[in-house]
Amino acid sequence: MIVILKNEADSQKVEILRQWLENQNVEIHKSVGEYTTVWGLVGDTSRIDADLIEGLEIVEGVRRISEPYKQANRKFHPNDTVIDLGGSVKLGAGNFQFFAGPCSVESEEQIIEIAKSVKEAGANVLRGGAFKPRTSPYAFQGMRSDGLKLLIEAKEITGMPIVSEIMDASHIDLFEDVDIIQVGARNMQNFELLKQLGKLDKPIFLKRGLCATIDELLMSAEYIMAGGNEKVILCERGIRTFEPAARNTLDLSAVPILKEKTHLPVVVDPSHASGIARLVKPLSYAAAACGADGLMIEVHNNPQQALCDGPQALTPDKFAEVAKGVQKILNALK
Ligand code: PEP
Ligand code: MN
Repeated sequence: MIVILKNEADSQKVEILRQWLENQNVEIHKSVGEYTTVWGLVGDTSRIDADLIEGLEIVEGVRRISEPYKQANRKFHPNDTVIDLGGSVKLGAGNFQFFAGPCSVESEEQIIEIAKSVKEAGANVLRGGAFKPRTSPYAFQGMRSDGLKLLIEAKEITGMPIVSEIMDASHIDLFEDVDIIQVGARNMQNFELLKQLGKLDKPIFLKRGLCATIDELLMSAEYIMAGGNEKVILCERGIRTFEPAARNTLDLSAVPILKEKTHLPVVVDPSHASGIARLVKPLSYAAAACGADGLMIEVHNNPQQALCDGPQALTPDKFAEVAKGVQKILNALK
């Protein structure tokens, strides 16, 4: 349920309403806009008489949110959410960011070299997988905690915040110095993991499941938010369809649809969506043009030798070219 307060509402009366609502065992999430203040009520609102509240002179309107996702809903929080990614990097509401780096951390030399080059090319966040969800148990599984240590070293050298994927809640402590925790497509509906991440005060980069609907993605975000962590970044990374020409099908319509439904930032990952390096540039341009808040792009200094996802990795030079082009599109749309 949301309560929309009148602009000129008397502050004493507002305070009385706040206390009354809190006595009904609901939590109030305030969202202050230019023209109105919206209170999102979290908890069991079924016994709250909406007509009674609507009748108060300080209240503009009361609406029940019919969608099952509440805190992720734009009705609950009309303004775009801006998420602090660490350092001075912000995402959302016009703050566009590049998350770039290799699929996997492979060695100290590799991650430091790539980190420096993506930073120079305009990336603001360094990505790198340490725990890798591979289809085959015989494929490279990632450097695990050693990989995280190298990523943290790259962060210390470059000053870039870092993002890495978690696969199990028992690893949370290992991610203490990781700025943003990624939940991969395969774990989007690992609800126990989402609940644990909901207890953290750290941005969560939530990738859409291979066969998940937009509403299912939002419900997974809701799991994290229901635990108290409101810093959720949504990522469209391609879905599985009947079309085999690319690794997945990039669902770009998800971007404007998500923007209508939610206030959370939306990032597009054209690397996993296409699986093909030469498709990354056109898909990045399209994502920027249709309203994405950022791009996650895999970059490798030697794609042919990459231990994971080489065919979709851009070289640092190619990434610099894409970043430049995207910036031109963003400027043209301002
Ligand atoms: C990744 O980002 O390296 C990854 C495994 O992505 P996804 O979960 O989208 O497949
Ligand atoms: Mn990858």
